[in-house]
Amino acid sequence: MRVRIGKAILGWGAVALILFSGAKVQAKGFEVTVLGAHGGLEDGNLSAYLLREQGANVGVLLDAGTVLNGMEKADAAHAFDRLTLPDDPKTSRAGGLVHHVIQGYLISHAHLDHVAGLIAVSPNDPGKPIYALPSVLSVMQDDLFNHRVWPNLADRGPKPALGLFHYHDLLEGQSVPLAETTLTVTSYPLSHGGVESTAFLLRSGADALLYLGDTGPDAVEHSNRLETLWRLMAPLVRAHQLRG
Ligand SMILES: [Zn+2]
Repeated sequence: MRVRIGKAILGWGAVALILFSGAKVQAKGFEVTVLGAHGGLEDGNLSAYLLREQGANVGVLLDAGTVLNGMEKADAAHAFDRLTLPDDPKTSRAGGLVHHVIQGYLISHAHLDHVAGLIAVSPNDPGKPIYALPSVLSVMQDDLFNHRVWPNLADRGPKPALGLFHYHDLLEGQSVPLAETTLTVTSYPLSHGGVESTAFLLRSGADALLYLGDTGPDAVEHSNRLETLWRLMAPLVRAHQLRG
């Protein structure tokens, strides 16, 4: 695969990777900014990856364990230097970045280390779609945004559903455009210790990037979902379209 990493900024839990390629197809590639990269206990550095088409100002967040804290650290690591935000004295720069750069949340599964940042920032980041498989959204609806753990800021579930966030059910294998971006996503279920997790295939033109939420080897998970996924991805690898 003719992919090389053009630039990597490491530190403070924030990593910016710009992937680009010298392949023949007209391809922009992707820019991934890591807002958090750990699971479990590391508060302030939990799974969250901002994905943008190369050169685009806006994108989507793949999982949302750490949001505001991650944007602050990525900004300090110069991930957003080229962005100019509207003047808003009531909002911090990191808050403005969350509001303007993240155009939707793709959630692989609803374990806290993948959603805690979204819940924390939710009162200040309204109006965004939350994309996930139906099984994942039903956990968010019943067990998170339920007026007991957190107010129901979404548009389904325990009443009153305040409707600040829009649940968008993803169906396995179906390509869906991601609002306000030029990206599409296709989702595939993964097994994760009895919980359904998700692989997201992001497309930008002919380019593809595959993101896997938590999962384990098929032998351990007693499933064939990884084998199925890689068989589906093999043609993209052969065609040099899978960028990362
Ligand atoms: Zn998990």
